[in-house]
Amino acid sequence: MLAKMELKVGDVYKCPEGHKASIVWISESEKVIAVKCHYNHFYKVAKVADHTKPSLSYRSHPTEEKKIYTKDMVFLIRI
Ligand SMILES: [Zn+2]
Repeated sequence: MLAKMELKVGDVYKCPEGHKASIVWISESEKVIAVKCHYNHFYKVAKVADHTKPSLSYRSHPTEEKKIYTKDMVFLIRI
């Protein structure tokens, strides 16, 4: 798109993962905006103790990798 888009806070803007997010902040230069998205986003993989399986020893506590998703992430986007 060649035409400069008029963006304002509250407008719908795609987050980096393609969801419909809303603009919560626009820099004075209008080169950077912040969008807040209510969808879940992949955050990180963490090793967590699996409490659902019985274990005989705390030392050999089974762990599993769990993908952590986070909601309401705010992304800074260069436009
Ligand atoms: Zn999103």
